[in-house]
Amino acid sequence: MADVKLTNVKKIYSNNVEVLRDINLDIKQGEFIVFVGPSGCGKSTLLRMISGLEEISAGTLEIDGVVVNDVPPALRGIAMVFQSYALYPHMTVYDNMAFSLQIAKTSKADIDQQVRKAADMLQLTPYLDRLPKALSGGQRQRVAIGRAIVRRPKVFLFDEPLSNLDAALRVATRMEIANLKDSMPDSTMIYVTHDQVEAMTLADRIVLLSGGDIEQVGSPLELYEHP
Ligand code: ADP
Ligand code: ADP
Repeated sequence: MADVKLTNVKKIYSNNVEVLRDINLDIKQGEFIVFVGPSGCGKSTLLRMISGLEEISAGTLEIDGVVVNDVPPALRGIAMVFQSYALYPHMTVYDNMAFSLQIAKTSKADIDQQVRKAADMLQLTPYLDRLPKALSGGQRQRVAIGRAIVRRPKVFLFDEPLSNLDAALRVATRMEIANLKDSMPDSTMIYVTHDQVEAMTLADRIVLLSGGDIEQVGSPLELYEHP
């Protein structure tokens, strides 16, 4: 539940390549923002900077009006869903979702409630006792989403979460994410993809990145019907 504001944000990697030049964007609480653009334009870099996994070279990142450039990832109230699910292979679905709450010393009863609620939302209840290897790719990605949900983050980040799935699962999982958006209307969601259909179906606003800058910002209608 948070506003995210980028002001004059820049990224220069150690090899002196300027990947992002001057990014200015005001993301409102509850918005679903989709970053699109060609491969290599800096979408993942931008997401990793918001999550704190990558340093911001210049400019400021604010979450709810607080500059968080130097706030460690775990304290930013952000959860990230990656392209590769990064589930713990030796843990059940339940334990994969419960783990970060166990680390945070959440009570057993609260953990159980959170995990079961997320599992219900993502239709994972029948699979709670399974290991990741006994799940389809789409189910695994739903577990990764569930693991993010139980942390009750203020901001969700998605880095091409559907790109490892085959076409049918991609459609189904896209619908799950659309449902997630509907059931958590106060959560801010920032999503990276190179898939135009994903952008059109999920976004409140699409941000088109190109050559290190924001080229266009607008609703799906504005960008794709009346470009
Ligand atoms: P996208 O997600 O849009 O495909 P990325 O953010 O992954 O783009 O990468 C943007 C550019 O930054 C690419 O040219 C890539 O090669 C470069 N890049 C990414 N990570 C690093 C790094 N750790 N060091 C140097 N260059 C990098
Ligand atoms: P913590 O330090 O709170 O135990 P984790 O061990 O869960 O955090 O993850 C380490 C870091 O990686 C965190 O700071 C978090 O930002 C990020 N991270 C890794 N996986 C996720 C995920 N599924 N959702 C949110 N953040 C994650």
